[in-house]
Amino acid sequence: MTVRLILAKGREKSLLRRHPWVFSGAVARLEGKAQLGETVDVCDHNGKFLARAAWSPQSQIRARVWSWQQDESIDIAFFVRRFEQARQWRDWLAQKDGLDSYRLIAGESDGLPGVTIDRFGNFLVLQLLSAGAEYQRPAILSALQQCFPQCAIYDRSDVAVRKKEGLELTQGPVTGELPPPLLPITEHGMKLLVDIQGGHKTGYYLDQRDSRLATRRYAQDARVLNCFSYTGGFAVSALMGGCREVISVDTSQEALDVARQNVELNELDLSRAQFVRDDVFKLLRRYRDAGEKFDLIIMDPPKFVENKNQLAGACRGYKDINMLAMQLLNPGGILMTFSCSGLMATELFQKIVADAALDAGREAQFIEQFRQAADHPVIATYPEGLYLKGFACRVV
Ligand code: SAH
Repeated sequence: MTVRLILAKGREKSLLRRHPWVFSGAVARLEGKAQLGETVDVCDHNGKFLARAAWSPQSQIRARVWSWQQDESIDIAFFVRRFEQARQWRDWLAQKDGLDSYRLIAGESDGLPGVTIDRFGNFLVLQLLSAGAEYQRPAILSALQQCFPQCAIYDRSDVAVRKKEGLELTQGPVTGELPPPLLPITEHGMKLLVDIQGGHKTGYYLDQRDSRLATRRYAQDARVLNCFSYTGGFAVSALMGGCREVISVDTSQEALDVARQNVELNELDLSRAQFVRDDVFKLLRRYRDAGEKFDLIIMDPPKFVENKNQLAGACRGYKDINMLAMQLLNPGGILMTFSCSGLMATELFQKIVADAALDAGREAQFIEQFRQAADHPVIATYPEGLYLKGFACRVV
């Protein structure tokens, strides 16, 4: 018989609204013994079934919901159904936008908490982030092979959050051929090289696809500063948009080396592209002191906030780089600025950018808003799924 997780009285409300997490404080007791990640039935304090979920005893999020149906088993067929549903949407997008790569599974937003799967051509890159996802690894892999027989699977579950779940970090080939060191993918007419085995996350930041495209529109004749460039997707897009010059800045030399190759691969003018290995915070100050000016600045930093305690510090960090960037812009220049921290609400981020303009002594107009691309959807019952937000500001 399935182990039952009984909620404390009155703690069923969020589940009735189909939010997929059970926090430790909401748990009254576990009836029976469950292994790390095993499936349990979540019941209200009267024993009424609410959801089928994965047990995560070491995490503050004690259970994550797989299904709201009492008659649905969590098995290979379940994952096949979820994958097929997710795939319908991605295939539509891929066809419409001419993509060969996309996020196939975006965790909670695709009804699979703790599961991230990116598709790069015929390689599927898997990240299992929760105890439940890890427990279901065999079923997930079987279902993936059934749905995508033509694809090789590579595991990139080498992510620190797994430790919070009591899991080791894992990485390596699962089935099919090993990914090449640099796999070319297609994004809005650009060819980009992805390092599945050694790159950041699953190899590439697919979520910024639409913002990279938007850059093209602002780039004509511009002198561009591409901060936190990683492998230069924004730089390639700016060059395709006809920029005069683009300087890409990152602390990772490996990323900058790929960025240079990406410019070459697209047969763009390498003499217009520079790659600077430096700390953005320091380089912006040096540029300010040297009187450097730009027409377009892209500010796409890594996640600054892992937990609520870091939020205040992160706000200062965001304000600092955005203020410096605005000071470097010519009048009428454009700042494209992003935050991928889920804990940073869009309104708060907008306020920080507004404060940065005040401190910079510049007037900023918000002219466009960005979010993660549509293959990273936000399910209505889990608004936390919106993590990436951005603005284009005209700075006068
Ligand atoms: N804009 C990129 C994604 C950026 S990810 C794209 O479109 O693909 C964030 C990048 O910031 C990473 O490549 C990381 O190496 C870099 N980074 C982190 N801290 C940095 C710092 N202080 N200065 C410069 N780069 C930094």
